[in-house]
Amino acid sequence: MVAGGGIGGLAAALALAQQGFHVKVLEQSASIGEIGAGMQLGPNAFHAFDALGVGEQARSRAVYTDYMVMHDAIDEYQVGFIPTGAAFQQRFGNPYAVIHRVDAHNALLEGVQASGHVQLITHTCVQHIHQDADSVTLTDQHGHAHRGLALIGADGVKSVVRAHFVNDPHRVTGHVVYRAVVDKADFPQALQWNAASIWVGPACHLVHYPLRGGEQYNVVVTFHSRQAEVWGVSEGSPEEVKSYFQAVCPKARQLIDLPKSWKRWATADRDPIDRWTFGRTTLLGDAAHPTTQYMAQGACMAIEDAVTLREALKAHDNDVPKAFDRYQRSRIARTARIVLSSREMGRIYHAQGVERLVRNDLWRGRSPERFYDAMEWLYGWNVSNCLSPT
Ligand SMILES: Cc1cc2nc3c(=O)[nH]c(=O)nc-3n(C[C@H](O)[C@H](O)[C@H](O)COP(=O)(O)OP(=O)(O)OC[C@H]3O[C@@H](n4cnc5c(N)ncnc54)[C@H](O)[C@@H]3O)c2cc1C
Repeated sequence: MVAGGGIGGLAAALALAQQGFHVKVLEQSASIGEIGAGMQLGPNAFHAFDALGVGEQARSRAVYTDYMVMHDAIDEYQVGFIPTGAAFQQRFGNPYAVIHRVDAHNALLEGVQASGHVQLITHTCVQHIHQDADSVTLTDQHGHAHRGLALIGADGVKSVVRAHFVNDPHRVTGHVVYRAVVDKADFPQALQWNAASIWVGPACHLVHYPLRGGEQYNVVVTFHSRQAEVWGVSEGSPEEVKSYFQAVCPKARQLIDLPKSWKRWATADRDPIDRWTFGRTTLLGDAAHPTTQYMAQGACMAIEDAVTLREALKAHDNDVPKAFDRYQRSRIARTARIVLSSREMGRIYHAQGVERLVRNDLWRGRSPERFYDAMEWLYGWNVSNCLSPT
């Protein structure tokens, strides 16, 4: 059984089906789907899509960017530039790309449906978990019981499965994210770059990149809130966004005038933990390693998790407790590195005063090869090196 039908849950269901299991995905929402926003995918995500047999479905819906670029949002200084064209793809064996979240989700959904071994059950919120030596039993909001050999908790940042076994506190960052998708016709020509682009400013930043063949642009802006925040999503207010970007240059600031409607995320993460597996239950995706978004790797990690889970089951002949333990030992340090690096990256993005000057000097004159070397630990992941040695 898989709790949650997001990107992580579908990837897990597909991986388990490939390992010969019949899988039930229990999703609380009325339908299996994703929100209307974009996301970035590193080559590691495409290695994982490939390992799950849906690489072409994902690649065909993605936009391959030519470069990543970071500008100082006050004076437009170019802080960093990393080409992601042919040399990058040759080095890492797959592209850097941006994709509509619905399209990434659909690539996995098609794989799940084609497998013929996955049952998708909506309107079903997992509330209670009971496990014994041979099985796990879930109870949903209607009081119905669902019994299976094992449980993958892929139920996102507010995971009920994690709460049952770990019950650790979350850490509200006070960083608020506004996201929107804008049609090309409404997006400034001067910013129609085929790139993952970021403008970094004092206690704020702005991101934009193309989606769906360049017919749309994803706009994501982040700021440190003045008020106490409660973790969650709500409708955004254009007036609120505008009030936070007064110090930013007009070229970047025009981004916040574009969207007709915004969604607002008050973000949080959790400290990494050293145990995700509890007998026949394990955690995956945001349930296992909720992170701030600054490394743009949360979904990439969820898909990697799924591949690693399958490989662990393969290595242990589907002995669930042994495989789940191998899986967690293969994943914990890598995903904790994402969580911790992401916090540091947020600090670099939002630097002010002298820290800003240091940030702007960090990568001066750095060659693409040196950037690529620094990214090897992240983008060099693949199915043949995903498992811990024992
Ligand atoms: C602003 C922002 C930008 C981001 N950008 C990127 C990016 O560029 N690249 C990237 O790789 N990642 C990015 N991420 C991270 C990425 O969105 C997440 O890591 C990813 O979606 C996690 O997938 P998941 O399946 O683990 O969780 P979710 O997508 O949260 O899915 C969990 C599912 O479980 C269901 N559920 C929850 N509780 C229950 C329950 N009790 N019973 C049944 N169902 C339940 C939910 O309805 C949901 O469908 C970003 C995140 C944010 C906030």
